[in-house]
Amino acid sequence: MSTHFSADERGVILPCPACGTANRIAYAKAAQQGRCGSCKADLPHISVPVEIDSPASFAALVSGSTLPVVIDFWAPWCGPCQMMAPEFAKAAALAAGTAILVKVNTDEQQDIARQFRIQGIPAFALIKSGKLVSQTSGFQPAERLLAWARQG
Ligand SMILES: [Zn+2]
Repeated sequence: MSTHFSADERGVILPCPACGTANRIAYAKAAQQGRCGSCKADLPHISVPVEIDSPASFAALVSGSTLPVVIDFWAPWCGPCQMMAPEFAKAAALAAGTAILVKVNTDEQQDIARQFRIQGIPAFALIKSGKLVSQTSGFQPAERLLAWARQG
């Protein structure tokens, strides 16, 4: 299983666990059960973090997702971010089907980081129906992160 999924302006790219074909899950259909376009197997819900590598993909995801979006702002040189990575991955597995967990590298996506006024990392933002509802920062276990996301 890959450690993260990629995404583009039209959706999350999810490999079929049965045949390996890359399927695109439209953001607006993220809450639904998908089927592989090639072998018709049921696709799992998005259960690993989605890595965002362009502002356009990010904008499409936050405006289009029917599920709450939890964003992890991180950078490769940040020690607490490295500690946070497995917790964030665990949170993504626990929240499969109920939220999309997204990773934004603040070194590569400085415009997005500026948009959220990120000062220290790791930092987290919660978006529901395209609107920023809460932000927090610092290392936290998966369960605490999800409790924060549920309250937001
Ligand atoms: Zn398949």
